[in-house]
Amino acid sequence: MIGTDIHPHATLPRHAKETLLGQKGIVLWFCGLSGSGKSTIAGALEQVLHDQGRFCIRLDGDNLRAGLNGNLGFTDDDRLENIRRTAELSKLLAANGVIVLCSLITPRGELRDLARGILGSDFSEIYVKASYAACEARDPKGLYAKAANGNVAHFTGRDSVFEEPQEPSLTLDTERLSVEDATFEVLEFLRTKRVIA
Ligand code: ADP
Repeated sequence: MIGTDIHPHATLPRHAKETLLGQKGIVLWFCGLSGSGKSTIAGALEQVLHDQGRFCIRLDGDNLRAGLNGNLGFTDDDRLENIRRTAELSKLLAANGVIVLCSLITPRGELRDLARGILGSDFSEIYVKASYAACEARDPKGLYAKAANGNVAHFTGRDSVFEEPQEPSLTLDTERLSVEDATFEVLEFLRTKRVIA
């Protein structure tokens, strides 16, 4: 809620920024288990978009937790605040014509609904799907091995629940799709949404 003594200033209209950049602002919210491929696909997409002359920004859960969200842990309340801050930041960026690539586990429907509520029509939910067993076999950060020994608090999929998205805008099954094919699917999605020509 905005306090009575807070008076937000008008900024240049969104279409002015979008015209400058030659693209539309949007937030692609990649959710899925740790190791499902969110960051890998967001990184590949960022490179392709950048090479095409598009301006995009990645907001990665781990990177944010190293800075802006550094005071937050993995309790239910902290996960909510982590999502709220990230969604509010994304909202500012999208309103300025930026293609925002968020990769955060976002394990529960309630968390995704919070982001959707903040972002409205700018929000596109992209489910990066891979089973716990597949992510455990990949284990890019060594977290699954640690979690198996009970050394990671609130580990998603083991100690805390991951609720599968019911109606994501797009599902990328990374046990079937290569990184290149997943990236291509997202590019097609952006074209369908007329974010890029
Ligand atoms: P997350 O961001 O979801 O925690 P990462 O992208 O950091 O996951 O790690 C995913 C790991 O899985 C990487 O080591 C990546 O190379 C590997 N991987 C294997 N197949 C795929 C795929 N099809 N898509 C994305 N990542 C994949």
